[in-house]
Amino acid sequence: MARHHGPVCRLCRREGAKLLLKGQRCYTAKCAFERRPDPPGKPTRFRRKRSDYAEQLREKQKVRRVYSVLERQFRKYVEMAVRAQGVTGENLLSILERRLDNVVHRLGLTESRKQARQLITHGHFLVNGRKVTIPAFLVSVDDSIEIAPKSVSIVQIQNALAKVASAVIPGWLERDLETLKGRVVRLPERGDIDADIRESLIVEYYSR
Ligand code: SF4
Repeated sequence: MARHHGPVCRLCRREGAKLLLKGQRCYTAKCAFERRPDPPGKPTRFRRKRSDYAEQLREKQKVRRVYSVLERQFRKYVEMAVRAQGVTGENLLSILERRLDNVVHRLGLTESRKQARQLITHGHFLVNGRKVTIPAFLVSVDDSIEIAPKSVSIVQIQNALAKVASAVIPGWLERDLETLKGRVVRLPERGDIDADIRESLIVEYYSR
């Protein structure tokens, strides 16, 4: 499935949840889902109960959209999660969290994952002092993440930095507000990730 280029708020209405794809706007009264939470398309008079398959599919699509991952890449993550030790669903979420675009966003250095993705592709972030332009790069314990010195002045980063102090940093990351450097303290665990994800449904979807 190709990357979605249409209105992103439609995706929230489709999944019936706030996916927080638009940065600060998602927390204001302008949020489209707050104003109109019904699914996009023609309204139906009778709502049928979803089948198990439909539930699994929607959960998979929801998580794929939150992290902005294409189907083929997502399937690879599921395979990695199956091979790893531990609970497959939790492994999958941990892998998704370790993506560089997610880490940059979680550190409060961009307003959304989409923006993080764009800025990483343009070479504005360093991992362990070296430029990394792959948003899907998976960080490891002790990796350091920072803005490339030449990129600190660009408008999108300055806008994010204006709010950086108020960003809530998950426990598996730490951030130095002086140097604006982030570090991976440990690998993410289930408790660090949004509770509103039913990862077991995703595993069931791929086990069919
Ligand atoms: Fe979703 Fe609301 Fe953000 Fe739009 S503004 S992406 S509807 S949470």
